[in-house]
Amino acid sequence: MVYENPDGIRIGLEVHVQLNKLKTKLFCGCSTEYHDSEPNTHVCPVCLGLPGSLPVLNEKAVEFAIKVGLALNCNIVEQTQFHRKNYYYPDLPKNFQTTQYDFPIAANGKIIIEGEDGEHIVGITRAHIEEDPARLQHMGTIDRSKGTLINYNRSGMTLIEIVSEPDMRSPKEARRYLEKLRSILDYLGVFDGDLEGAMKADANVSVFWGDRVEVKNISSFKGLERALVYEIMRQKNHIRRGGEIVMETRHFDEARGVTISMRTKEEEHDYRYFPEPDLVPLRVADWVPDVRKTLPELPDAKRERFMEQYGLGETHARALTTEIKVANFFEEVASKVDPKDAAVWVSDILKGELNYRELSINAFTVEDIVAVVGLVTGNKITEQSGVEIIRTVLDDGGKPQDIVEKKGLLKVEDDIVAKAVEEAVAENPEAVADYLGGKEKSLNFIVGKVMQKTKGRADAREAREKVLAKLNE
Ligand SMILES: [Zn+2]
Repeated sequence: MVYENPDGIRIGLEVHVQLNKLKTKLFCGCSTEYHDSEPNTHVCPVCLGLPGSLPVLNEKAVEFAIKVGLALNCNIVEQTQFHRKNYYYPDLPKNFQTTQYDFPIAANGKIIIEGEDGEHIVGITRAHIEEDPARLQHMGTIDRSKGTLINYNRSGMTLIEIVSEPDMRSPKEARRYLEKLRSILDYLGVFDGDLEGAMKADANVSVFWGDRVEVKNISSFKGLERALVYEIMRQKNHIRRGGEIVMETRHFDEARGVTISMRTKEEEHDYRYFPEPDLVPLRVADWVPDVRKTLPELPDAKRERFMEQYGLGETHARALTTEIKVANFFEEVASKVDPKDAAVWVSDILKGELNYRELSINAFTVEDIVAVVGLVTGNKITEQSGVEIIRTVLDDGGKPQDIVEKKGLLKVEDDIVAKAVEEAVAENPEAVADYLGGKEKSLNFIVGKVMQKTKGRADAREAREKVLAKLNE
């Protein structure tokens, strides 16, 4: 099946990723751990842009950027250089942002996503290093704000801007691209995606192969999909009414779920890039081989290996390798129980319960899931009881073995089930007659009675078989 892209949709994303696993900012020694701090407490003359202050490049930031570039299958430039991007905005007290211009550290890469028609390649145009501006906090919505507060704690944090080709053909593909990108960065250990401001996207969107509109300020996966669905619908309706799409920048208002026009192309800034005279050109080619050696096994490779090594299906392998923490957790469990059981219990059951409670895999231990799987596969408890134990551990705490005892979850003996079947059949002659007369549903009723009598501790499948055997005697 080939996806025809009937509406001629093209989406490209510019994603700003904050390398928040670095200890210090890009050009100064200020700590990057500002997220729980009072406003304007992680600042110094350099990241405040005071006159006379000089930037000192964070070597580790360059190393992380090379790592990201390599993981995105990019070419790493031989020698890079920083530029000043000049514009005046209150989040940028120097009047310019230090960024990369004609020699981005990485270029010409690609990411493979699950597309509308199977595997789909999204080109990476470039990835470059730049500093994060301060955070503006509008009082109210951006277009009706009465005032704005500025917090410079974020100013000078290291960003990688990752620019894709307009290769995505639906909001869903754009979301998958962003998820894949996050997954790769998560594997690299260069950022913590859970922190506020870790990842932000601007989207370029066009329909019917027309001119593109830029939508700014998207900060979540769900927000991205909503913004794109809205913007595509807006453009299509506009064209249907005889309008023309002009190149412009729009803002996504997450609260209202709409995009609002900010400025048209005529008003776009001419940024006037100048080479940054305070930072010398930096030769990075010699670093690349060493950084390449630090690259971990990435999601695609891990997924392939899980399928091969553990005999998992594609769906399980994919679900278990999206997050590195989950992948590691699974491998530990799989070293102690049958890997296929491990896949079912970690991917289908435990992850579902965690998602429902908005918890991460850290909320459960390998030891406890191994205990649960052992109890079920050892035929000590039913699958349903296994699920109940997981829920109890998550909601009230406790150890699986203790919960089994406290709740009396041990499977009842065969003769107790046999007795319950005997009774259920004897006590419900009408249902028996109905079943023998062809009413299949009556069987469920009798099995239900068996489950009641054993207080749910019989295996429902086994109980059903026993009732059937009894009825067919
Ligand atoms: Zn600073």
